[in-house]
Amino acid sequence: MSTSLLYHAFGIRGYRYTRTDYQDGQTIFTIQQGPETCRCSASGSSQILSRGHVRRRSRTVPIGRRATLVVLPIPRVECQDCGVVRQVKVPFADPRRSYTSAFERYALELSRRMTIRDVAVHLGVGWDMIKDIQERDRSRRYAKPKLKHLRQIAIDEIAIAKGHRYLTIVLDLESGAVAFVGDGKGAKALKPFWERLRGSKAKIEAVAMDMSPAYREAASTDLPQAKIVFDRFHVMKLFNEELSELRRALHREAADVMQKKVLKGTRWLLLKAAEGLDEERDEKAKLKEALALNQSLAVAYYLKEDLRQFWEQPGKKFGTLFLDGWIKRAESSGIKVLQQMARTLAAPRSGLLAYY
Ligand SMILES: [Zn+2]
Repeated sequence: MSTSLLYHAFGIRGYRYTRTDYQDGQTIFTIQQGPETCRCSASGSSQILSRGHVRRRSRTVPIGRRATLVVLPIPRVECQDCGVVRQVKVPFADPRRSYTSAFERYALELSRRMTIRDVAVHLGVGWDMIKDIQERDRSRRYAKPKLKHLRQIAIDEIAIAKGHRYLTIVLDLESGAVAFVGDGKGAKALKPFWERLRGSKAKIEAVAMDMSPAYREAASTDLPQAKIVFDRFHVMKLFNEELSELRRALHREAADVMQKKVLKGTRWLLLKAAEGLDEERDEKAKLKEALALNQSLAVAYYLKEDLRQFWEQPGKKFGTLFLDGWIKRAESSGIKVLQQMARTLAAPRSGLLAYY
């Protein structure tokens, strides 16, 4: 071990390497701080007297699957300026944690790809430690913004770590800033947000969110005055999911091999907006062929394209008329997924119309 390896592997600079021990499957590096580099941690003064050491062990990035520790006798010094005895600063680790900053960064790096449990097992530490590291990182990155000025918010969830973890995000729609980040998804993830919001006395006028009943319920309980808006993106996303489900069912039931083949190739075409179809790749013709084969798919597709017009109406009156008409057509289509969609849109209708 050399001082430059200490720096490059663990981010530890300005110390002398003393020795390496191998104990109980752990690799332990002992390092030392030269007395000439010691300063008062409060005033930065070099007018100090040595007052012994406090031995500290910090877990750092493992080497070859072995837990690796750094042991440092932290010098205690009496400052001539302050007249107080203190430990000198340790730049490579938080004084209240049992691990180095390099270990923390490594755990966060792994957390982007693995669950908390996986990271804990891989690093041979407790679940709580990894959870704590993640929470501290989050609060550092999203230092609590003031909520008092919030008027219009959007609530959404995002999947991270390849879908192993979820975060619930609250956005300030006026500024675009992140107002809150909650761990997990659903109503539970929002609990701390409602608490902070109550404390802030903010008056929320509108909430945009996806159509999951969990969020809807949470918002109507915690924000009885606010209008709930289901935004276009989330409504169309839900519709596209229903449409894919219908296509899959038709594909399963199709007896004819040709029919199966045609349906198979249309998945993305169905989800695309009509004006987005690529003429050169013959997408329009392909879609037409599939729709001609199956009437319910055709009706569902055209009603999907039609629903997009809802957001283009000149005002609330037209929006209401349009939506009522759409819901009627969907209900009378005799197609299950459309009837279901109609019920979903009819139930929180005020939510859709709040767009206007
Ligand atoms: Zn001092």
